[in-house]
Amino acid sequence: MSLLTPAVRDAALALAPHELPCYIYDLGALRQHAAAVRAALPEPVELYYAAKANPEAEILRALAPYTDGFEVSSGGELTHVRAAVHDRPLAFGGPGKTPEEIASALAAGVRRFHVESLHELRLLARLTARHHTGTTARPRVLVRFDPPVTADALAGSALAMGGRPTPFGMEPAAAAEALRMFRDGSLPGLELAGLHAHLASGLGAGAQLALTEEVVAEASALAARCGVRLRELTVGGGMAVDYSRPAARFDWSAFGTGMARIAERYPGPVLRIEPGRALTAYCGWYATEVLDVKRSKGEDFAVVRGGTHHLRTPAAKGHDQPAEVLAVERWPHSLPRPAAQDDRVTFTGQLCTPKDVLARRAPAAGVRAGDRAVFALAGAYAWNISHHDFLMHPPPGFRFLHPPEPGTGG
Ligand SMILES: *Cc1c(COP(=O)(O)O)cnc(C)c1O
Repeated sequence: MSLLTPAVRDAALALAPHELPCYIYDLGALRQHAAAVRAALPEPVELYYAAKANPEAEILRALAPYTDGFEVSSGGELTHVRAAVHDRPLAFGGPGKTPEEIASALAAGVRRFHVESLHELRLLARLTARHHTGTTARPRVLVRFDPPVTADALAGSALAMGGRPTPFGMEPAAAAEALRMFRDGSLPGLELAGLHAHLASGLGAGAQLALTEEVVAEASALAARCGVRLRELTVGGGMAVDYSRPAARFDWSAFGTGMARIAERYPGPVLRIEPGRALTAYCGWYATEVLDVKRSKGEDFAVVRGGTHHLRTPAAKGHDQPAEVLAVERWPHSLPRPAAQDDRVTFTGQLCTPKDVLARRAPAAGVRAGDRAVFALAGAYAWNISHHDFLMHPPPGFRFLHPPEPGTGG
């Protein structure tokens, strides 16, 4: 089965070599995927998109109809997301918020803050008192906490924030102190919305549900101990994307059914998830041209235009980016055309470092210089996490493929 949608295949073949490499986003595929995710979630569960996974304005706008809001993790993201999708609810999270960032978030009317420490809570209270005009509603706080969870619940995660010493969120004792400050009325300018946790990424639906159930149980117990009511409970993102099985998807239907069960068992707070990767990874491709094919110690290498300075994901995660070759018959040079001898080829980029590997020993029988190589699952944590300026190669292009308007027959 092809890793490409028909629209992406056409676009990758239509681009001239000098227009490559190019990120191609299929916004129709993105909308379809987001609609399916939304439909799988039970009504009371809110869906926020974690903008850091891919903050391209076109992506945010495509997701807006299917999401309840956006999670932003810096003043820069906040300004950017605000401009791209006006009037959508924002939650401002992330460690190390500066006083300037908090003040500008308050000035911009951001209503929801994920607070990472007692110091940050006091700082927010101080700045709110200064900013308060008397007309706007009080900012709502979700206290990010680091609940004790069983090792079992984190097993299999690609990246664990919880279950170990961490700079994220508050230990239960500190979180309890924060909740009691609300209960005792010592934060009159702020409103307690509830608790927030984001403990792991890369979990399948079963593991994600088991972890969520532990988080919800711990949150309910903590709130009860502190004598406060939880109105909102954000249980994080981290839904798995399996780069070794690009056709597989996180089982949103099983997850939705499980979330309905959890919501029934713990009535009261609005449950919210904030995935990033699992929403946008599948809508992006990095398309490029094979510049050269060569052999070293019995193995074939295809060197492509661009590399991990544009698509750092495989280097950052230590995986092989799923690759597909599109044959191009035209060969403009009156020179012999380099071609692979083996079925398996390692795709590397233009950087002078052995780490510049996009995919190791990928199936690409007979790939030639001049063919196209297209890397899938490049819609999240791809361009925006890459070290763009290393070696001063030109940046890639960006194409956003819009679905045909309904009724145009296209
Ligand atoms: C990064 C992050 C997310 C999204 O994680 P994914 O693995 O992309 O789903 C959600 N919440 C917080 C607090 C994060 O830092």
